[in-house]
Formats: sequence, C-alpha cells, structure tokens
Amino acid sequence: MITNEKLRAVIFDLDNTLYDYDDAHAVASRAMADYAGRALGLEADAFARLYKEAEAEVRRRCGGNCAALHNRLLRCQALLEGLGKPVGHAPRMAKAYWDALLDAMRPYPGAVEALAKLREMGLAVGVGTNMTADYQFEKLERIGAMPCVDFIVTSEEVTAEKPDRRFFDACAEKAGCAPGACAFVGDSLAGDVRGALDAGMRAVWFCHKQDPSKAIPGAMLARELMELPGLLAGL
Ligand SMILES: [Mg+2]
Repeated sequence: MITNEKLRAVIFDLDNTLYDYDDAHAVASRAMADYAGRALGLEADAFARLYKEAEAEVRRRCGGNCAALHNRLLRCQALLEGLGKPVGHAPRMAKAYWDALLDAMRPYPGAVEALAKLREMGLAVGVGTNMTADYQFEKLERIGAMPCVDFIVTSEEVTAEKPDRRFFDACAEKAGCAPGACAFVGDSLAGDVRGALDAGMRAVWFCHKQDPSKAIPGAMLARELMELPGLLAGL
C-alpha cells in the first residue's frame, strides 16, 4: 500500500535481519546434537530427523500461529517423550543450543549504526519478531542493539505471528502512530514484506541473501543496512 503519511517509526525483524541467524543456528544445532550424542547416544543424523519430527509435533500441539512453535524446550520435550527418555534432559538440551547460538551470533555490518542513525533522524525504532520474548531480548543485548531500540514486539505477546495483521497492528500501537507512518524492514518476503504492506505499512525487503528480482511491487529494497537512513530520509 502506498501511503502519504509522514514516516515516524521503523520496525526491524531480528533473525537474519539484524544478525546472521543461519550461521549461528548451524553452530547451535551442532551443540544440541552433541548433547544428544553424549546424553542419549543418538547419532547426529538420527537426532536431526527426530528433532524435525518433534518440531512438527509441537506445531501440531500448539496450532501454528503462535510463538510456542519456536520454543526449543518444547521440541526437546516432544523428542524425549517420543523416545521414552527422561524429559529432564529437555532444558539442558535446549540450553546447549541457546548458549552456543548467543556466543556465535554477530550483528550484520552497520546494524547498530543504522538503528542509531534512524533515531538521530527523529524516528522511533522498534523490533518486531516471531519468537518467544526471552531469547529475543537476550539477542538484542548480545549484538549491542538494545540501547538503540525504543520498543519490542514479539509474537509471544501478540499471540499471533507475522504476517498476521494483529502483529503489525501491535507494532503500530507501540510506535504510537498509524500503520501508514511505519516502515517494516525484514528478510522474509512472506512474513515481513507482504505482511507489512497488507497492514498498510511501508516495507523494506532486506534482500542481502536473496534474488532481488523476486521483490514484491510496492516494497523498497536494501542490500546493506546502512542504506536505510538514505532510503527512508524524507519519507
Ligand atoms: Mg527474519
């Protein structure tokens, strides 16, 4: 949707937008598989298959449009239940993942600088992310972004996930302005870009890992986060 409202807030997706989730996730997945190997005697391939099945089971249990589907503790619990193993391993298995991910994660070049610059321009800066709140807060601390963030929206508090309209409405509410005065920046075409446009926001597709020819009409494009202050100036 094209809007004539003056831009007042910029809201960022977190994973694969402010830091490289894919790289950190690969390290963390190995740490979790290592735990399963030591504690349960599972080979890495078998663990990967069982974890995928557990992920599907959690999705079945919780519905699919809520943050619980990302909860690794619940997935580990479902995996252990399926194996008939003690569920007491679940928190330790999930912690192996999160400790490794938090240590491995690195902000994208210009991430913190872009947030700071946008605030200098008088814009409110938010983060809007599909996940449980606890680790998203921790991630923002680890990459040094928290001091530059005015508000955070997680799908846990909204009880709906991007691209659900309720998620974007919650972002605008916390920004204190109409959706038309917000821009949403993210790497997911379906979740971030399409969702934001359908909610009446401007959208920027952070397409650093993807083919820009797949862009959705009406969305702006950025390959580097430091392009954003220039791209959004004057809107
Ligand atoms: Mg993302």
